Amino acid sequence: MTAPRWPLGPDATIGILGGGQLGRMLALAAARLGFKCHVFCPDSHSPAFDVVRSVTEADYLDFAALDRFAADVDVVTYEFENVPAETATFLSARKPVLPDPKVLAITQDRLTEKEFVTALGIGTATFAGVDSPEGLTAALKSVGQPAVLKTRRFGYDGKGQLMIRNGGDPIAMFHDLGGQPLILEAFVPFEREISVVAARARDGRIECFDVIENAHADHILKTSRVPAAVTPAVAAEARRIAETIAQAFEYVGVLAVEMFVVRDGASHTVLVNEIAPRVHNSGHWTIDGASVSQFEQHIRAVAGLPLGKPIRRGRVEMINLLGDEVEDAAKWLATPGAAVHLYGKTAVRPGRKMGHVTQVFPE
Ligand code: AMP
Repeated sequence: MTAPRWPLGPDATIGILGGGQLGRMLALAAARLGFKCHVFCPDSHSPAFDVVRSVTEADYLDFAALDRFAADVDVVTYEFENVPAETATFLSARKPVLPDPKVLAITQDRLTEKEFVTALGIGTATFAGVDSPEGLTAALKSVGQPAVLKTRRFGYDGKGQLMIRNGGDPIAMFHDLGGQPLILEAFVPFEREISVVAARARDGRIECFDVIENAHADHILKTSRVPAAVTPAVAAEARRIAETIAQAFEYVGVLAVEMFVVRDGASHTVLVNEIAPRVHNSGHWTIDGASVSQFEQHIRAVAGLPLGKPIRRGRVEMINLLGDEVEDAAKWLATPGAAVHLYGKTAVRPGRKMGHVTQVFPE
């Protein structure tokens, strides 16, 4: 592997696996810092293709294409966590892949992810792995009901998960999820959902953005508000959790940790729901609402540059434009102070993330 000299110089090319809106916004941030980007994605309609110097439209297991991609870039990063392990291994033999592929291996699987988090002494919903109908019966005894049955891999935005309540037919649900490896989690009666977006640099320095409060509709993120309406103790605990995870992974780049805040008598408990080893939808507000965005922090980290100190510009609200809500763009464009981001997607589907709007208000 040819190791680059850190930090990357102004003419360097950053390789991005994945061509969605996250890749697009990463590439825009990279361009602002003088870098070029090469996006690798199998989908010809990738939003990120529109804004970069080079593109490779090929399957993630097309090793000849990966070889050419590796030769053209100085460092490889990714905008989604389901990059096949073989792809990450192949590329990391040629160029630095950041964050390290070992992080993908852990976070691609909800069970190994929760085991990893628990081993750090951080709380999660009670959980158990489920591989068979008998295993589900045993897991329901230890986890209790209501519970959420989820696929261990490839689940997102609520896809691949079902609620199990008393009186339901859990075994039918096991089969509904395709008989693949599953995880059963206790249903968490949360007061609110929050996330922390954190960046860790090559030298181990960590910068967290302020704690974000998230509201979902049909399991899809709808709005993010900052600061979250949580106590200083909850905010400090949420940041500590994100920092502990970033440190344990020896992470380089931006990660997001989604958490549940649960009322516990007079105080609160913070439980980890999920780790996203990448920039995250709940961090989009940082483009307009902070002195440095999550996308720029990620590019800085993988390029070996110092991180910025994120200063929030006010109280911030980010609204996703889902499906045909993209038709509201004209209204938002006419709204004083609203920053409109459209991802250039032409096919509108229900729930599809088409763009977002950020508003910054005085505190
Ligand atoms: P996930 O795909 O795991 O991020 O789940 C999507 C959404 O489903 C979360 O943001 C929560 O709103 C809800 N959810 C997932 N797991 C649980 C749980 N164990 N208890 C309560 N709500 C959950």
